[in-house]
Amino acid sequence: MLSPDYYYDSIYMIPYNDLWQRGIRALIFDLDNTLAPYDTPRPQAKVIALIRRLKRIGFTVCLLTNNTKKRVDTYNEHLELIAIHGAMKPFASGINRAIKAMDAKREETAIIGDQLFSDIWGGRNAKILTILVKPVSKYDIPLVRWRRLPEKLLINAYLKKLKSEKK
Ligand SMILES: [Mg+2]
Repeated sequence: MLSPDYYYDSIYMIPYNDLWQRGIRALIFDLDNTLAPYDTPRPQAKVIALIRRLKRIGFTVCLLTNNTKKRVDTYNEHLELIAIHGAMKPFASGINRAIKAMDAKREETAIIGDQLFSDIWGGRNAKILTILVKPVSKYDIPLVRWRRLPEKLLINAYLKKLKSEKK
């Protein structure tokens, strides 16, 4: 079954220090609906603060999107991260490019994103740690929208399994 390694309410709830402790050194962030809604061209102050904190911990951080160069370049203007567009997730190729661009090791890399069928599947294909977060906005582009229902079913099954394992 397609499921993430971890699932959090948002990028702010992820225990980044724990990730560092377990050897994760490089973080790949999806952009749309993970860091920002589709219609937010520039990062909010809290995103900028988070990225700063992650850099201070020592992480290498990268933006990876299936969206356009213009979208990610505008968003990245003040963040100045490694940024990759047209990633073609769920294929591993864009993720592999990100790992290479960060000069990271696969086993030290995690992907963080809001879509099971894009970010998490892609992360699985690239054999890296996968962290699912809830989408920051209710709006999805049409291509994504039709995937939300099967995605929800899989996430519910995943949460149910987690719960039964904890018993
Ligand atoms: Mg997304």
